[in-house]
Amino acid sequence: MAKLALVPTPIGNLEDITLRAIRYLKEADIIFAEDTRVTQKLLKHLGIQQKVISFHAHNEHRFLEKSVQIVEESELAVLVSDAGTPAISDPGFLLVRACLQKNISIECLPGPSALIPAIVGSGFPCDKFIFEGFLPHKKGRQTRLKELSTEERTIIFYESPHRLLKTLEQMLPFFSESRQICVVRELSKMFETYHRGTLSEQIAYFKETAPRGEIVLLVHGVE
Ligand code: SAM
Repeated sequence: MAKLALVPTPIGNLEDITLRAIRYLKEADIIFAEDTRVTQKLLKHLGIQQKVISFHAHNEHRFLEKSVQIVEESELAVLVSDAGTPAISDPGFLLVRACLQKNISIECLPGPSALIPAIVGSGFPCDKFIFEGFLPHKKGRQTRLKELSTEERTIIFYESPHRLLKTLEQMLPFFSESRQICVVRELSKMFETYHRGTLSEQIAYFKETAPRGEIVLLVHGVE
């Protein structure tokens, strides 16, 4: 029976990998990776020698059928992304769906993903939340922000450091200046920070201090 396992990998600190994830990486017949060089680096760190082939956003459609065929011919195929849980703002969903259509079993191992430590550490309500991932880069940003401005649950965005200030400024027409925001940077890395404050305080701060590193942006739900 062929199986596709989605194996989460560290989002920074290389100690954040489970024993089961390591075993699956060792036992896999084939590993699909977003960037094979990134995955080979992790495998080297873990002392694992494995065949790694590419499955990234640009070839999802073109190689989908071929990839499903490779999974079908393997006992255990593993999909990893560069960091965190595959298919969460990363390639993977299409492969999962295509495998299910062929009755291939799917397993997703629990493991690192940036959104969970970000919301739990923010102190914002985490009994209910919505994950927005990345906002559209160009068209549709304002419309989406307007739609989200009345959301009562905590909103989680993934954001790049270059776009953070622009996003905060684009929120201003729709979210009140006093809306609580938490900017989480560099989770599990040396310069991990949770920067909490109102929308206007965040804008003022990031105008002065250019943000760096990987960012999760959290917006408190409307009260
Ligand atoms: N699959 C990943 C996951 O499960 O979280 C997400 C991949 S997505 C391409 C990359 C985005 O995740 C980054 O731009 C950032 O918003 C967020 N991210 C990943 N690692 C992070 C970290 N160590 N600290 C803060 N945010 C991170």
